[in-house]
Amino acid sequence: MAEAHHDDSHGQANARGARPGKRPRVSAPLATTERSPEAEGDPSDALFNSLTLFAQGLERLQQDRPRQTCPSCGASRKYYCYTCFCLVGLEYGTEVPTVKLPIKVDIIKHPNENSGKSTAIHAKLIAHHDVTISEYPTIPDFGDPSGTVLLFPADDATPLAEIDPSVVKRVVFVDSTWLQCNAILADERLASLPKVRITAENTLFWRPQKNKPATHLATIEAIYYFFKQYAAAFECQPYDGRYDNLLFWFVFYYRMIQGKGSSKGSSKGNGKGNGKGNGKGNGNERR
Ligand SMILES: [Zn+2]
Repeated sequence: MAEAHHDDSHGQANARGARPGKRPRVSAPLATTERSPEAEGDPSDALFNSLTLFAQGLERLQQDRPRQTCPSCGASRKYYCYTCFCLVGLEYGTEVPTVKLPIKVDIIKHPNENSGKSTAIHAKLIAHHDVTISEYPTIPDFGDPSGTVLLFPADDATPLAEIDPSVVKRVVFVDSTWLQCNAILADERLASLPKVRITAENTLFWRPQKNKPATHLATIEAIYYFFKQYAAAFECQPYDGRYDNLLFWFVFYYRMIQGKGSSKGSSKGNGKGNGKGNGKGNGNERR
């Protein structure tokens, strides 16, 4: 599940795109006011072009790579091992970025959730030291429960901006389908946690769940928006892109699946407007 929040109105149907009224992004020196016709057609463009991503890594991942053997378990993998949570044939710093998170993340994964398809692994790969993935019914001992919150889109959940960042040191996400997640959330070990919610955002996931609103986020999207909103509330205003690389793998797969990998948004990140000189995507990297 990992959807962010329900109370959103549907009035933000274009929330993936330009949102006049939302806070300005400083990490988007490339965003031009001019919008190409293609930009209107692909809801990912506004978001992806505004992200501060590790462009060098995205470029290197464009190269065709054979599957390799995971050094830990020996399985044949491409890019990373989703059971060992390690890179396979790739290196941090040259191909894959890392992100340091301000609080710890625990992801509780339903055992039926397909590890190879889950986006929870993306968070573990990028923020290795701050993210723990557990498979239900295993739930870590959170210690003092007052320092742990559960992301849950309930009406009685506390808005993220209203938590006390000096107290909250850990956030829990549930990685499962909606039906599976109910069983996990009913577990007393999670049900007893204070709940927080984030401001609604629309998903760009290529495997949306049936009959779910656009605000039903993939797990990595929920984690990303949690930290983006956390930063905006407690660390930097306006948000400076510091957690954008949480979406590194999400953007990589999105573009690959959309068939954009080699033709657009590739080496220089100049996804759109080649020949039009609108410069979108250029200079989109940092860190
Ligand atoms: Zn492995």
